[in-house]
Amino acid sequence: MDIKYFDHSATTPVDKRVLQAMIPYFSEKYGNPSSTYSIGKENKETINLCRLKIANILNARVNEIYFTSSGSESDNLIIKGIAFANKNKGNHIITTKIEHPAVLNTCKKLEQFGFRVTYLAPKPNGIVDVRDIERNITSKTILISVMYANNEIGTIQPISEIGKMARKNGIYFHTDAVQAIGNIKIDVKKDNIGALSVSSHKFYGPKGIGIAYINEKIPFMRIQDGGHQENDKRAGTENVPAIVGMTKALEISDSELVRYNKHLKMLRDYYVSEISRRIKYIRINGDTEKRLSGNSNISFAGVEGAKLLYELDKKGICASSGSACSSGFLNPSHVLLAIGVPKSFARSSLRISFGKSNNIEDTKYLIDSVEEIVNRIRM
Ligand SMILES: *Cc1c(COP(=O)(O)O)cnc(C)c1O
Repeated sequence: MDIKYFDHSATTPVDKRVLQAMIPYFSEKYGNPSSTYSIGKENKETINLCRLKIANILNARVNEIYFTSSGSESDNLIIKGIAFANKNKGNHIITTKIEHPAVLNTCKKLEQFGFRVTYLAPKPNGIVDVRDIERNITSKTILISVMYANNEIGTIQPISEIGKMARKNGIYFHTDAVQAIGNIKIDVKKDNIGALSVSSHKFYGPKGIGIAYINEKIPFMRIQDGGHQENDKRAGTENVPAIVGMTKALEISDSELVRYNKHLKMLRDYYVSEISRRIKYIRINGDTEKRLSGNSNISFAGVEGAKLLYELDKKGICASSGSACSSGFLNPSHVLLAIGVPKSFARSSLRISFGKSNNIEDTKYLIDSVEEIVNRIRM
């Protein structure tokens, strides 16, 4: 069966141009970048050129870009690295209840090491109130971590304002920008961002590679010990093909950003308006304006989310209920609970995340399928 993929917030296919750029680095240009002979040194130059290209796109400095194995690792490196390096200044961290598990569980781990963490609930529309963060600052606060855009409900946080407020209070600011990058133009200077996490496979790059941007003025402790790679801050032989692929993917997404967003918004708005018109007793989760253009999150009263996904899969449709990591589990999404969605509605949500390959025909098929299934399985 032909697969219709509507789960681009979970992962994306590798762009063909990205794959082409990567291929030579597997069995031709395979030298270890730390080696001193030419095929090693050339790869070192290659990854440093990639670093420069990424720094330029993000408006960062080249020595502020670290390659990691994933968005999850970037979140770990930044939050633990900053927390441990600044423990002498304070032990308090502020974050939100709607973060990805890579941030939430990292913060929970830090609580076992003497840190105190405040987990703030956003407003019912899924947006965090900057004044609410500011009110929770104490003399012990060292770090604020708020995601740029949410992976389940797509809501976009007031990052620049949070960053400005954090700087005014002398507190470091990290944002998990995994969902935002490739969808929103990010400028770490303009957005007042001190540290930022990125993952390649969410913007048509390969899996298993990510970026941690950390402002050069922020002290952080290395978490992964070993060799001297990444400016002596993160050990491990560099994944050269993946770095080349991720850089290519970022360049493509940066140059196609406007067109990409227009396409996604057109499909998403059509889907939401048709579903709203055809199906009763639904709830649209998350702010309708300040959200990623390809994201939709709708709850259907009386419909078991897991059953809906199973039925969609039988029709060749890939979608998600809550975050990818919690699919298969019956626990309602922590994000939906944090914004006050009643439990019955939280278990009946469907996240659709549109992407490059989707078109209006697929979307019509999706709408018809959702309508048919909801009417059939609704209790
Ligand atoms: C996917 C995702 C991550 C994790 O990135 P991986 O590279 O898959 O580890 C972290 N944060 C958010 C918001 C994400 O969507």
